[in-house]
Amino acid sequence: MARTIIIEETGGPEVLKLVEREVGAPGPGEIRIRHEACGLNFIDVYQRTGLYPLTLPHALGMEAAGVIEAVGEGVTHLKPGDRAAYAATPPGAYSEARVMPAAQVCPLPEGISFEEAAAIMLQGLTVEYLFHRVWPVEKGQTVLFHAAAGGVGLLACQWARSEGIRLIGTAGTDEKCALAVENGATECINYRSHDFVAELKALTGGAGVDLVMDGVGKDTFEGSLDCLKPLGMMISFGNASGPVPPVNLLALAARGSLKVTRTTLFTFLADHDRCQAMARHLFEKVESGAVRPVIGRRYRLEEIAEAHRALEARETTGSTVITP
Ligand code: NDP
Repeated sequence: MARTIIIEETGGPEVLKLVEREVGAPGPGEIRIRHEACGLNFIDVYQRTGLYPLTLPHALGMEAAGVIEAVGEGVTHLKPGDRAAYAATPPGAYSEARVMPAAQVCPLPEGISFEEAAAIMLQGLTVEYLFHRVWPVEKGQTVLFHAAAGGVGLLACQWARSEGIRLIGTAGTDEKCALAVENGATECINYRSHDFVAELKALTGGAGVDLVMDGVGKDTFEGSLDCLKPLGMMISFGNASGPVPPVNLLALAARGSLKVTRTTLFTFLADHDRCQAMARHLFEKVESGAVRPVIGRRYRLEEIAEAHRALEARETTGSTVITP
């Protein structure tokens, strides 16, 4: 049996429910993993509220780290006793143990703790694809990155610094801006007290940026287009403030042949070999010291509703880790 968080209906943090569930044995292509730590991500909120629908009842949580207990037929990259970590579907990581598909579960190097892995798998793999697999971001280019003091944000600041990319962040308080700069943002704009488009233009001598990475969504999308140079690239990857309304393609032409994409991590992880390569790349960055997991808060599994509330209330910085 394993203590597991499920939802039976969509709604506020109060719908998160702690239950005991049978874990069972892994079938072909599956593993059973005992979790030492799980991660909290904004996608968990979208699933809880129904923005990203699940068939209910459903367990929640998309990332965790722990020890492999058993492997099913055909699984060759993991064995019982291995340390492992993942960002993967289906949701179910908020639990003591689970059975799940093996393809997206990655061997975890000794030098990275379970807590650190739970803090970086989903958010760090996101940064990996944002900087290397969507569009060729080059040394010397300038990126505008929204919510730069968040979980994905602080890792993005560090990653950009390690690649010689100028990352101009935005964040909701001066304290968060200072944290983003400490982590590698070259500048950070408080977008609650300032007009981020005007500030960005001033910081770039009127030129704008080559690329925008926007996980905030509704509140920042239009302004972000105004921050791009002609031929610039907009990567929209989240909806923390709500989903982006339909886009008028002519607005992209008028601003100078802009490009827009809406990405999701799980497209990049769907291929087993690519997923494992992305994880090795992330682990190398951590082991080299270029990227350092920033765990802002820790909660126990039974405190999960409070963790969700804090994330939605913009109270967190960096990553939040849940101990089962
Ligand atoms: P964060 O830790 O960044 O938390 C979200 C942050 O968004 C808040 O702290 C807040 O920072 C900012 N924000 C702005 N407006 C709002 C609002 N109205 N309500 C709540 N927060 C707001 O979360 P994550 O690191 O988990 O994720 C960041 C974004 O990236 C999310 O949108 C997430 O869904 C997305 N994501 C997308 C992936 C993909 O592949 N598509 C993968 C991983 C994450 P501030 O106070 O500074 O404004």
